[in-house]
Amino acid sequence: MSRFWSPSVHALEPYVPGEQPRMNDLLKLNTNESPHGPSPKVIEAIRAVTDDTLRLYPDPTALKLRETIARVYDVGVDEVFVGNGSDEVLAHAFVGLLKQDGPLLFPDITYSFYPVYCRLFDIASEEVPLTEDFRIEVADYDRPCGAIILANPNAPTGVALSRAQIRDLLDRHPDCPVVIDEAYVDFGAESAVSLVREYPNLLVIHTLSKSRALAGLRVGYAIGQSALIEGLTRVKDSFNSYPLDRLALAGAEAAIADTEWLAVTTQQLIASRTKLVEGLEALGFTVLPSHANFVFARHQSRDATDISSALRQDAILVRHFRSERIRDFMRITVGTDAQCARLLTALRTIVSRNS
Ligand SMILES: *Cc1c(COP(=O)(O)O)cnc(C)c1O
Repeated sequence: MSRFWSPSVHALEPYVPGEQPRMNDLLKLNTNESPHGPSPKVIEAIRAVTDDTLRLYPDPTALKLRETIARVYDVGVDEVFVGNGSDEVLAHAFVGLLKQDGPLLFPDITYSFYPVYCRLFDIASEEVPLTEDFRIEVADYDRPCGAIILANPNAPTGVALSRAQIRDLLDRHPDCPVVIDEAYVDFGAESAVSLVREYPNLLVIHTLSKSRALAGLRVGYAIGQSALIEGLTRVKDSFNSYPLDRLALAGAEAAIADTEWLAVTTQQLIASRTKLVEGLEALGFTVLPSHANFVFARHQSRDATDISSALRQDAILVRHFRSERIRDFMRITVGTDAQCARLLTALRTIVSRNS
């Protein structure tokens, strides 16, 4: 605390990212990073621009990257926005679209950055409870509001809405902006990108951090009709004109263009997820139906705090949230088959110990 802080800083409750400790033989299953690594073409592309052109500013409009995204998703260049990680794209959407007269709605259990941004940007919000079985019920959003944001698949549950359900939500709310955060959509859920043409109030946000295995590069993007994109661009150019550096632009272009790498690595991950779920269920866990690169699991008798600290003793990190409704669950990132096997072996010992 300091008397030199701006007064509003005292009231902030910053997001707490999953820890990134240094430990020998560490198995990190706590931040949903990819076990497969990015396309080799990404590394090649970054190497190719690692030269003295770094003295020059990058393209502030990120035109080539936006053209690549537009081509792959079959939308217009003016329907694409890019930013420094989807967290930054989200921040600009909170400022540029989601701060309305009525409250912003989001689920009581969702990406914990949403309430953080509401505090930072002074946005009134209302949490809509998930159902007993941790699903989003679209009809529950039928209440006065200024805007809506959902993660689909939701985090940290991994549970997804279908495209038809997103369409239903949009039909019920033609007059407020609706943002769908599709950070995990490539792992088997249905994207709402194809609905952008029909719904002028829909913005879909993606990240390169999860399915493209580039959490370290910090690139995210949004797809929506050009008027929405223009709103985001106004905010961005009031904040930072060059959010993506030259290396990130080159790497991101190569990552988006390599659709085959995406298809192969996400299929591998989905196969590993299926096996992991079977393994966990055999050990007495209940696992929510996941369309993400993580699973959300609770044990029938063992405490999640105890299990996660025992795993830590074995140098395996998973994420445990303390909030009331989900304190019995652990969020476990899906690793390679070998990593999942190491996790299951450790868990077998832990859950069979006398407590
Ligand atoms: C990981 C994640 C993000 C942020 O991703 P970055 O692009 O790394 O900032 C956004 N939304 C959700 C739901 C996520 O899980």
